[in-house]
Amino acid sequence: MAKDYYSILGVSKTASPDEIKKAFRTLAKKYHPDSAQGDKVEAEAKFKEISEAYEVLSDENKRRIYDQTGNVEFGSGGSDFTWQDFSHASDFSDLGDIFNRIFGGNFGFGGAESSFFGQSSRSRQNLDLLTNIRVTLEDVYYGTRKSIRYKRMAPCETCKGTGSKTFRTSTCPACNGTGQQRIVQGQGFFRQVMVTVCRNCNGSGSIPEQPCQVCSGKGTTSITENIEIEIPKGAEDKLRLRVKGKGQADHGVVGDLYVAINVQPEQNMRRIRDDLLLPLEISFPEAVLGTEKDITVFREKLTVKIPPGVQPNEIVKLKGSGFPHLNSRGRGDILLEMKLTVPKHVSSAQKELLEKFMDEGGKKHSWLRG
Ligand SMILES: [Zn+2]
Ligand SMILES: [Zn+2]
Repeated sequence: MAKDYYSILGVSKTASPDEIKKAFRTLAKKYHPDSAQGDKVEAEAKFKEISEAYEVLSDENKRRIYDQTGNVEFGSGGSDFTWQDFSHASDFSDLGDIFNRIFGGNFGFGGAESSFFGQSSRSRQNLDLLTNIRVTLEDVYYGTRKSIRYKRMAPCETCKGTGSKTFRTSTCPACNGTGQQRIVQGQGFFRQVMVTVCRNCNGSGSIPEQPCQVCSGKGTTSITENIEIEIPKGAEDKLRLRVKGKGQADHGVVGDLYVAINVQPEQNMRRIRDDLLLPLEISFPEAVLGTEKDITVFREKLTVKIPPGVQPNEIVKLKGSGFPHLNSRGRGDILLEMKLTVPKHVSSAQKELLEKFMDEGGKKHSWLRG
């Protein structure tokens, strides 16, 4: 016995389209799985039943056939109504997102990134690779080139990344070239249509005409890559350099390689922004009288003028001799921190001179203030 769609919606056989619509809306609110009281499974079944009835009675053609034969054919499932046959979801947007959740493919789950099968949609981002490289302060002071060895999936050379011996591919029949598959999950009302990456073509939308034997039709092979990368002058610790097209390859899409610079710390040297801080030992007479000192910083021979009367730990600047600015012209400074050295032993001649120096200074008594 065919279903009585009129009694399911609680309308008469002569009900107008408006009456049918009104009846469906009232019942849909009642059996809406978010608001239904009591048995959810029963509510789901009811919701689907009224949707089926509405699908038939709201369509002039289907209603006439139903009236004449007591039966109606549904497009996808023959005489069985499935959610795919429901064509009025957009008419009932006021019922909330329920139909979107039935048809939309992300029912109860997060966004595309966390789809039902844990298989995130294919995005460029997950084809990018990140690696680290250790460099010294000297490397970033002058800039340098470094080689890196790493493994990645690269386009297969034999088939030029097509996966096909003939270099020709055809549209994937499983997904019609969309690269996506709709998978119906679950039971009853909570039947969900999930959109996932097509497993037949792995999301590429095409399949090889004749699978390449080297890569088994995948279009990619695992290789060990050796590349030289340029460490720019003035590069800072944790700076990321992007090497285009050297990430993972997948179906003609290639990600990028990111190289994070790791500047190794050094004793007695510290980089502060683009300045380089170094200690410089000077004697008491040098501090008092001032002097010129030759110093070597990395490969540079520099001369520093120490002004007379310089104090312990005072900074003497060598302007413009620090690290090159990464994104602009010019450089930082070299900052020399004065370290006064006190000799443990002096000659008797030196001792005499120092005693004279003390006498010249006069006062032997200091007032200490707290
Ligand atoms: Zn190949
Ligand atoms: Zn496919």
